[in-house]
Amino acid sequence: MVLDGESRHIQAISPRLTQLLGIPDKERHALTASSVLGKRLSQRLRHELQGQQRLTSPLAFSRPHTLTRFQLNAYRNERHVIVEIEPLNPLGKRRLLGTVNERLMRIAEATHQEELLDYLVTAVQQLTGHDRVSVCHFDSDWHGLIVAEAQGGHLPVLLGQRFPASDFPITLRRAYERHPVRLIYDVNAPADMLLMYTPEAEIDLRHCFLRAPAPERQRYLQRLGVRGALSIAMQGDTGLWGLLFCHSAAPHPVAPPVRDAVRTLVQMATQRLLLLRARQEARYLQRVQDSLVLSANARVEPQSPAQLLNEQAETWCSLFRAHGVALWLKGSVSASGHTPTAPVICQFVKRLEKAHRHSGPWCTRGVASEPLTASLSMPDQCGILAVPLSMNPAARGWLIFFRPEQVETLYWAMQPTSAPLPAVMVAPSAAWCEEVVGRSEAWQRVERLAVMDLGEDLTLAISAYEISTLNMHLERERKALADANQRLEQLAHFDPLTQVWNRYRIEQAIEAELVAAKRYGAAFALLLFDVDHFKQINDTHGHGVGDEVLVSLARLVEASLRGCDHLGRWGGEEFVVLATHSDIEAAVGLAERLRSLVATLHVSGLDQPITVSIGVAIWRPGDSCKTLMGRADVAMYRAKRSGRNRVEIAEERVL
Ligand code: GH3
Ligand code: MG
Ligand code: MG
Repeated sequence: MVLDGESRHIQAISPRLTQLLGIPDKERHALTASSVLGKRLSQRLRHELQGQQRLTSPLAFSRPHTLTRFQLNAYRNERHVIVEIEPLNPLGKRRLLGTVNERLMRIAEATHQEELLDYLVTAVQQLTGHDRVSVCHFDSDWHGLIVAEAQGGHLPVLLGQRFPASDFPITLRRAYERHPVRLIYDVNAPADMLLMYTPEAEIDLRHCFLRAPAPERQRYLQRLGVRGALSIAMQGDTGLWGLLFCHSAAPHPVAPPVRDAVRTLVQMATQRLLLLRARQEARYLQRVQDSLVLSANARVEPQSPAQLLNEQAETWCSLFRAHGVALWLKGSVSASGHTPTAPVICQFVKRLEKAHRHSGPWCTRGVASEPLTASLSMPDQCGILAVPLSMNPAARGWLIFFRPEQVETLYWAMQPTSAPLPAVMVAPSAAWCEEVVGRSEAWQRVERLAVMDLGEDLTLAISAYEISTLNMHLERERKALADANQRLEQLAHFDPLTQVWNRYRIEQAIEAELVAAKRYGAAFALLLFDVDHFKQINDTHGHGVGDEVLVSLARLVEASLRGCDHLGRWGGEEFVVLATHSDIEAAVGLAERLRSLVATLHVSGLDQPITVSIGVAIWRPGDSCKTLMGRADVAMYRAKRSGRNRVEIAEERVL
């Protein structure tokens, strides 16, 4: 029965309905919704459909003076409300509920897809009594494969066979998405004519439960030898996952409660199926993640990309069902297993870079028929899965998996008409058998997701490695710089021959001491000494021995000084001792001590003693380095003049 949008006025009614409800023929032309359904029910219908697309659950009712009870379904369709009425067989409804509950429990406990679907088809077959109940699963090209089946005889087995995508046109799939149940109790039953109240009304009955098949569908089912059919959509999260078909060789009515029960079972099973798949995919993704995390944790030293590939290639190939893997980074290729040659991989990446700008993976099952790869020499390869590694915005790396050819034999229950097949023959079971060559196994959605995870992890690992190499490099440079600085400092402050302070450095120290003395009045002394008759040593024994004397002398003097005193080479064979916190007595004492110490020095190849003449000057307020050194120099020359190997003090006049 077709009502107007307000659910008040009848637009069309089927004679079968008036018959079913026992409405006399003469009344048929002057009916209203309330005269057919009764006042209370038609009010309830209006109420429940308010703002709704369809009734949430069917309404049960009975007619006065009849024993039969009926079930009513209703939904909106553009400007109309379509009402479908079926007789309800009350017998066994409670028993049915019990059975369905038990089946639902079993479905909820299934842990594998095969187990779940086998159980579903068996349960449905027992409920409806159809000859054959099958589950058809769609692949990514919308070809259907029969993955589970329960048989009650009379119809040929379809398990393992395929139905071409052309059998499931988009309009049909859309209709299933909107209304998941389709019941045709007899394919050959003629369509029931509608009695039109408003002849101009255009009525769309595509989404009815109860309907005659469209002529092409009718022919299709007849070709399959089917008279009674019930099909229910299995709605996945990204469109139709598949369909459950119930077929019978003879007309096969299904009572409304049974049909609703089957629908519930199918919905539950589909939910469970999606859950199992999600779990399986999550486990798989975790395994892929682990493959890298483990390797990263296993060692403290970050690994180079080539090392990483070498170590992980086997695990990755087994996870991605590949027989080779390659890593392309900045023009260089590391590869493991069966891969094309490095130049071919480079060429391929070049094309990929141009054709594939987004960050997702690229894949093919047939390199020979793919424009991007067709002209490249890739023997032994059929499938490629490539994921970009975004190291930096300017350049990407690529991780590329390779799959070999997998010759596949497909059994078609219905011959596909969309594309001609390479090798088609009629098998004795009337199924078409096709051998598919030149293709690899398909890359699953979860594999394409997993390869993105792997790509991200790998990018991180490679970045970590690059940063650590960069750090190592920087550390090496820093060390070299520090060494150079140290050498420079040595050169700037030390005398290369004797390794004591040079003149520049000792002058600095004297300047610093002058500042301190000026501020705190702390006296200090300078001892200037010169080797006696040194020229003679050089002339007699050579410069080498002369040098030896200077070195030994500096060593000896330096070793005998206090930590707060300093020795510097003033030039030639002249040295200065800066004696801090020293008055004249301490300074003279030190000078005497040094003089007699030097006299004990023995240098091999020299028999005569080495002596020094020392001039001592004590700081006086107003002194500069020059004045102080000048006085020490005067004193030292006085020591020379007075016979050498002696100490002279510059300060006699003051004292
Ligand atoms: P005196 O000081 O007792 O008056 O006599 P001297 O022979 O030591 O006097 P003089 O200053 O004339 O000689 C210093 C010599 O020291 C001259 C120079 O060749 C030598 N001399 C200067 N620097 C070095 C050096 O680094 N190595 C060596 N072997 N000789 C040096
Ligand atoms: Mg001299
Ligand atoms: Mg001298």
